Amino acid sequence: KEVLVHVEHLKKYFKVHKKDTLKAVDDVSFDIYKGETLGLVGESGCGKTTCGRTVLGLYPATEGVIEYAGRDVTKLGKKDSLWFKKRAQMIFQDPYASLDPRMTVGDIIGEGLENFGLHPNDKQERISELLSLVGLNKEHAGRFPHEFSGGQRQRIGIARALAVDPEFIVCDEPISALDVSIQAQVVNLLIKLQKELGLTYLFIAHDLSMVKHISDRVGVMYMGHIVELASSDELYGDPEHPYTKALLSAIPIPNPELERSKKVLPLEGEVGSPINCGPGCRFASRCKYASEKCKSETPKLKEIKKGHFVACHLFDK
Ligand code: SF4
Repeated sequence: KEVLVHVEHLKKYFKVHKKDTLKAVDDVSFDIYKGETLGLVGESGCGKTTCGRTVLGLYPATEGVIEYAGRDVTKLGKKDSLWFKKRAQMIFQDPYASLDPRMTVGDIIGEGLENFGLHPNDKQERISELLSLVGLNKEHAGRFPHEFSGGQRQRIGIARALAVDPEFIVCDEPISALDVSIQAQVVNLLIKLQKELGLTYLFIAHDLSMVKHISDRVGVMYMGHIVELASSDELYGDPEHPYTKALLSAIPIPNPELERSKKVLPLEGEVGSPINCGPGCRFASRCKYASEKCKSETPKLKEIKKGHFVACHLFDK
């Protein structure tokens, strides 16, 4: 398998007050293979969106390595950053806020395409092509975002991300703001586009059930750390980290034969703060297995079975 995105010991800290530091992403490592979808899930504030944005260079990394196709993308010059933008794009969470209401759909999708080498004469044709790719039609190009439903707006957002013909897309909670009835349509569109265009996705979500549908592998984040990473089947069928088990217990059980009851844990206790946090497992305040070691030593992400990584002292030898 070819690694397209390599992230190692990535940290993204924000100064929140003169003395306080929000450790939004704190020593996170993962690879994304070409053509796969890596899901990244966790509750709001766990750092998943910051992680996606930092990987794309929308936030400068505080520390760590981000490589795209073998190239370090944390220190790109102007020319190289265009190279990266041509390959790596983002679909935003809120299709209402992310489209400029004063621009036509055609202008939104086609904005800046000349910078990526498209001849102005070919622009209309490219816009029509993109609209048809996402299930809209060329007549929509002259309309404004407010004339569309939430699902259609997200299709416009997807067309905009596809405009430069990228290989890799960070999908930042692309369905969270949509009605449940149309969430599946947008996910199915993303799956179809992935097959047709050979795309690679980092799919960020808090909805575990939708992530299972689209992801080959899933990483679970908790307060800036990845606490579990495995194939979708493995993660949903045999979760190991107490937090993953708790998250999964919140999803209605579609198949009682899975005997999930064995794996299910309620999510209780106080959520800690990611500000100025020191060593120790950040889930300790909510974990019924927490020991003294958990409070003083940060568990490292370790491979406990082939391709199944867990950060929890319960798995220390
Ligand atoms: Fe619970 Fe300790 Fe594992 Fe953290 S390291 S999840 S506190 S058992």
